[in-house]
Amino acid sequence: MNPTPNALCFGDGLPAAGAPCHVTVSADGLTMAPVGNSPLVEEAIAFTAMSVEAGGLDHDQLVVSWGAGASVRTLYLKDPALIIAFRRAAPSALMAHVERAAEQVRRARHSHRALWGSAVGVVVGLGLMLWFGSDLIVEWAVARIPVQWEQKLGETVYQDFLSKETVLKDGPAVSAVQEMTQRMTAKIPNNPYTFQVSVVQSPVVNAFALPGGYVVVFTGLMKKAESGEEVAGVLSHELNHVLQRHGMERLVKMMGLAAVVSILVGDQQGLIGLARQLGLELATLKFGREQETEADVTGIRLLADARIAPDGMIRFFERLSEKDKEGVELFSTHPMSAARAGRLKAELAALPKQTSEPFTFEWKSVQDSLSASELKK
Ligand SMILES: [Zn+2]
Repeated sequence: MNPTPNALCFGDGLPAAGAPCHVTVSADGLTMAPVGNSPLVEEAIAFTAMSVEAGGLDHDQLVVSWGAGASVRTLYLKDPALIIAFRRAAPSALMAHVERAAEQVRRARHSHRALWGSAVGVVVGLGLMLWFGSDLIVEWAVARIPVQWEQKLGETVYQDFLSKETVLKDGPAVSAVQEMTQRMTAKIPNNPYTFQVSVVQSPVVNAFALPGGYVVVFTGLMKKAESGEEVAGVLSHELNHVLQRHGMERLVKMMGLAAVVSILVGDQQGLIGLARQLGLELATLKFGREQETEADVTGIRLLADARIAPDGMIRFFERLSEKDKEGVELFSTHPMSAARAGRLKAELAALPKQTSEPFTFEWKSVQDSLSASELKK
């Protein structure tokens, strides 16, 4: 009767692909019997005469060798039952380094699996949460974006935008906006941003902030404002959109999972490429209602810290909505709902009473300079 092969034997005079054989394990070694028409002869090998290595891709197989020189024989064991029997019978000294190798493979495989498992888990989890619109996960992802990336991204879009516009380089309007910005940014604790505020000549009644601290104020807004405090109110709101990283949050929501994953793997170029594709959509971003309220509340506090009369923005909004609501872009990006106005006023009322310090400029002459620069153009 021919036993079924459970191992392959290699060596001189044997086929290159190995000779099938049947191995049985005994208390002090193994016996190898030829199967079928084999050039092998039955042989018993003592444990003391052999060496054992781990084999196979996963190191879960055994390679047994014995003999010396040209008569070296190598047995390749891959039958699980045979391997178990061999492990049980073999002296532990013989198996020690095999077990060590197997343990290493097991550990490496386990940590690989854990790593992949958690990576897949994160991606799937983010996908699900983005799908269901959770702002929390977006905030979580955005908090992990280095500020430098944010700046690079914002600056790219900022320069693209400014290159197509008339930017006021100096003059009373630029000095006024700089004074407001300096007074406020001096009061921001641990401010990681270097704010850049540009005054752009345009009838557009609006201002916006890009991620990374790049702010644009249109002369149209400055002409509609009746005081520097009104402009400062809008500016403070915009600075706080930056400080709360609202633009980045919006961006991540718009870009979706691809962006989040590229952020996670640290693909800065991918992130900037995506931002560029979006281009100026970034500048006209509509923030969420919660983000607006957050920028309102923190904006008012920043004004108070800088001792700038903090009710400027609400006055500006209320006056504009009474007089000329049409064509005011600020309203389309910042709809002033009754709830929002109510929240603003409550916040104002809750502020401790303090005297504000006026600006060094006279608002009337700032506005006159704007009309003059338009005539020049
Ligand atoms: Zn806003």
